[in-house]
Amino acid sequence: MSHSTLRQQLIDTALAINRYGINQGTSGNLSVRVPGGFLVTPSAIPYENCRPEDIVHMDLEGRWQGERKPSSEWRFHRDIYRSRGDAQAVLHAHPPWCTTLACLGREIPPFHYMVAVAGGTNIRCAPYATFGTQKLSDLALAALADRKACLLANHGMLCLEEDLQQALSLAIEVENLARVYAQALQIGEPALLNQEEMVRIAEKFRVYRQR
Ligand code: 13P
Ligand code: ZN
Repeated sequence: MSHSTLRQQLIDTALAINRYGINQGTSGNLSVRVPGGFLVTPSAIPYENCRPEDIVHMDLEGRWQGERKPSSEWRFHRDIYRSRGDAQAVLHAHPPWCTTLACLGREIPPFHYMVAVAGGTNIRCAPYATFGTQKLSDLALAALADRKACLLANHGMLCLEEDLQQALSLAIEVENLARVYAQALQIGEPALLNQEEMVRIAEKFRVYRQR
C-alpha cells in the first residue's frame, strides 16, 4: 500500500477512535509500519485538523524530517516495531474504562473468555512512568510480552495488531472488557476462568480466525 493511502487510513482510523468514544482531544496516537520505519500521528494536533501531510514518517532509529513533530509517544511505537514482528499497527488511547482500571493499577484478569483476544490469560497493567519517556516504553513493552494489549497505569491503553482496522477493533474490545469488568466489580467479585479454560479458548480463537 502506498504511503499516501496509509496516511489517509491513519487519519480515518484516528477519527474513528474518537467517534467510538475511546479517545478524545489530542490524547492518544496511532501508527502503521512501512518498510524501514513507520508513519505516526503528529503530536498535539486534534485528529479533525490532521491532513495527510501532517503524518510523520520515522525510521527505526527514531529520526524524522519536516516541520511536524511526531507523537510524544514515538518511543513505544518505535520499540514495538523493532521488537514485535507481529505488529503492523500500534494504537494508544485514553479510553475511559481502561483508564479507570489503569488509575487503580489493576490488570484485567480472565473474568470473561474474550480476555483471550489480547493473546493471553490477562491484560496486564504496566507500572506508571511519565508520558513520552523511554521508561514508559520499556515498562509498556514488558507488559505487552506475549500480548497484543496492555493498560498503562494512571494513563490509558496500548495495543498492537496486524493492521489499522484490527487495531481499532482490538481497542474497542479491550475497552468493552474494561467496562464490563469495572461494572462487575461494583456488584461483587467476578468469578475467574482457570488457566486450562483460557488455553482452550486460545485454541478455539485460532480456529475461529481461520474461517
Ligand atoms: P501526542 O499528542 O504527543 O501523541 O500525545 C498524546 C498522548 O496520549 C501522550 O501519552
Ligand atoms: Zn497518552
